[in-house]
Amino acid sequence: MKKSIKCDCGGRTAVTELEILPGLFSEGYKCQKCGDTEFTEEQMRSALKKKEKAIKLMVTRKLGRVGGSLVLRIPNSATKAMNLKSGKEVRILLESKKLIIEAVD
Ligand SMILES: [Zn+2]
Repeated sequence: MKKSIKCDCGGRTAVTELEILPGLFSEGYKCQKCGDTEFTEEQMRSALKKKEKAIKLMVTRKLGRVGGSLVLRIPNSATKAMNLKSGKEVRILLESKKLIIEAVD
């Protein structure tokens, strides 16, 4: 990998750890003059592979309804892996079109 590539603005770039998608980091080139970033195809591919490896479970579920709220059944394999129990507090984050459920310790 090249240590630096030339930016369109004429500035020099340096290899830096950059957030390419929310929560997804990769080495890339950042221009020290204008701040633009650029990634090689190889850097993108390797970052996306890391993301795939981080996914441990993907299921589909139909939402239910209790009173005025929608409810979601969490798969047993996920509750075991995260040590979730009824009454335990979780944090829900909305990221674009994703809901992320985090255990609160
Ligand atoms: Zn630049």
